[in-house]
Amino acid sequence: MRVIFMGPPNAGKGTQAQLLQEELQIPKLSTGDILRHAIAEGTEVGKQAKTFLDNGDLVPDSMIIDIVHERLTKADCAEGFILDGFPRTVAQAEDLDQVLAKHHLSLDFVFCLTVEDEVIIERQAGRRMAPSSGRVYHLKYNPPKVAGKCDITGEDLIHRPDDQEDVVRHRLDVYAQQTAPVLAYYQQKGLLVTLDGTTSIEDVHSQIMKFVNTRTQQKDAHCG
Ligand code: AMP
Repeated sequence: MRVIFMGPPNAGKGTQAQLLQEELQIPKLSTGDILRHAIAEGTEVGKQAKTFLDNGDLVPDSMIIDIVHERLTKADCAEGFILDGFPRTVAQAEDLDQVLAKHHLSLDFVFCLTVEDEVIIERQAGRRMAPSSGRVYHLKYNPPKVAGKCDITGEDLIHRPDDQEDVVRHRLDVYAQQTAPVLAYYQQKGLLVTLDGTTSIEDVHSQIMKFVNTRTQQKDAHCG
């Protein structure tokens, strides 16, 4: 199963990607997490990416495409993968198509979670993240079991610097200008599934699982 999650910042992509990963046991590749790790480790990529992330801008296509190429060609992605936060420009989507075509692979679904801008602004204040795993919580909608700590790793949760209101507003503009055209790209290919991201986490997940299970049955029938 090869799945992409799209949607504006704070739409719930990371949360849904995580749930799907746990269900399907295939790698989840979050370009935002990869960049944040690179920044934390002080690598060359991290140094170049930091200002873009702090400002809520996209890093250059060439930088992210190299990272994704390297990751997707690892053995654990052979059975499938979940992309969270990639592609974010049409150039990235075209490049991904080329990589997949080279390996005779295709995408199954591009799930887009839709959430109104004002709901996103309201959500960002309560959003928290576990820096090492990228697990996402929300103080009201998805609180950790122990306040301020990740349920799985126990690490301290942070409020991402790019989740401050002014940066989120800028990320919404960037999304509208640079990422929204990617939706049309996948719509034309018949891959886009648009879901209401304002229903509960469980609700969105169960809708996603219906699509995924139907596709799995189709594939099994085809193989059998
Ligand atoms: P995210 O965690 O997906 O919200 O991404 C956080 C930040 O990482 C974004 O605001 C961008 O600065 C950068 N980033 C993540 N993925 C990409 C991508 N595919 N293309 C360009 N920049 C990205």
